Amino acid sequence: MPNPQRQLPRRVYPLRLLGMGLGGVVVGMVLWERNASLPAWLCMALISFVWPHVAYQLSHRNSNPYRAEIRNLLVDSALIVALIPLMHFNLLPSVLIITLTMVEKITTGIRGLWVRSLPGMAGAAVISTAFTGFHWSPHTSMPVLIACLPVLVLHTLSVSVVSYRLIRKVSRQNQLLDELRRIDALTGLYGRGHWQEQAEATLRRHHATDEPACLVMLDIDHFKQINDQHGHTVGDEVLRALARIILGNVRATDCAGRYGGDEFAIVLRGMHLDNAMVVAQRIREQVQALQLHDLPQLQLTSSLGVAPADHRHGSLRAWTNAADSELYQAKAAGRNRVSAGAMPALAPVV
Ligand code: GH3
Ligand code: MG
Repeated sequence: MPNPQRQLPRRVYPLRLLGMGLGGVVVGMVLWERNASLPAWLCMALISFVWPHVAYQLSHRNSNPYRAEIRNLLVDSALIVALIPLMHFNLLPSVLIITLTMVEKITTGIRGLWVRSLPGMAGAAVISTAFTGFHWSPHTSMPVLIACLPVLVLHTLSVSVVSYRLIRKVSRQNQLLDELRRIDALTGLYGRGHWQEQAEATLRRHHATDEPACLVMLDIDHFKQINDQHGHTVGDEVLRALARIILGNVRATDCAGRYGGDEFAIVLRGMHLDNAMVVAQRIREQVQALQLHDLPQLQLTSSLGVAPADHRHGSLRAWTNAADSELYQAKAAGRNRVSAGAMPALAPVV
């Protein structure tokens, strides 16, 4: 992924080229109106049309382009302000170029950069006035006003487009982060944190409305042996296959998550224990029938514990403990079976 800090010079270059270039036209118009001297013209041309390229080369060739570009941005502000005494403080162009240089500092997103540019700007104003003399002529003519329009419109629009792109990028990255937080990368099921949030909401609804719900905990039998005998890649493939079986047996309203390691948790919403047992048995049977493409001889089984939501479950922890203890019963009774408190452990039909 490109480093946003390294990209700063490339992001700033076209904006600087546009802002300085069009700003140069405005300053040129004022210089032309007041029959400015050759050094004043040279100064304007160097700052407006040469400096943007020099700045890019300086940051591009620097071993730390980001730091070099920040320095360039501070130099920008000072150079722009140095042009104001040359224009005899012509009001509209002076206010416009100061505003635009501030906007540029702010849209970099670098905290306090515009404040850091203030001393350089003040210094540049003093030095430039010392060289050119103090001439106060703030009146803005109609031609100068018209020359201000392109920089006002084009520069503002391009800064907005750059900011828009950045905002879109940040919001896409936030979405991605949210997905990473919610989804378990290996299986595609919900990760434990997000699953818990959903399960808690279901339990709260059960307490509030008495809507039934069942919690199924599933654990692969002797999964460690599979890892040990066939390697972690096969183990991972088993976990993915398990997730596919689970997803194939739950509805969109249910909530299936990877609880950790080889343990999965499923909340079946609006479902009583008898139907939940049917779902759990079906999953168990499909796990037993599962054949991995690369290892068809591998025999897999799973154990499941089912606990219906109950008003005595004061917290999700109590509910998961109930399902976990059923799972423990299923393991203790010989594995490859489903256990539920209200029913005896159901052994597999062989
Ligand atoms: P039991 O029948 O009692 O459940 O035995 P088991 O071997 O399945 O139980 P145990 O909890 O001891 O083993 C779980 C193993 O799962 C241990 C760990 O190395 C493995 N494991 C945990 N996460 C992953 C994973 O993401 N990928 C793979 N391949 N293995 C994992
Ligand atoms: Mg296990």
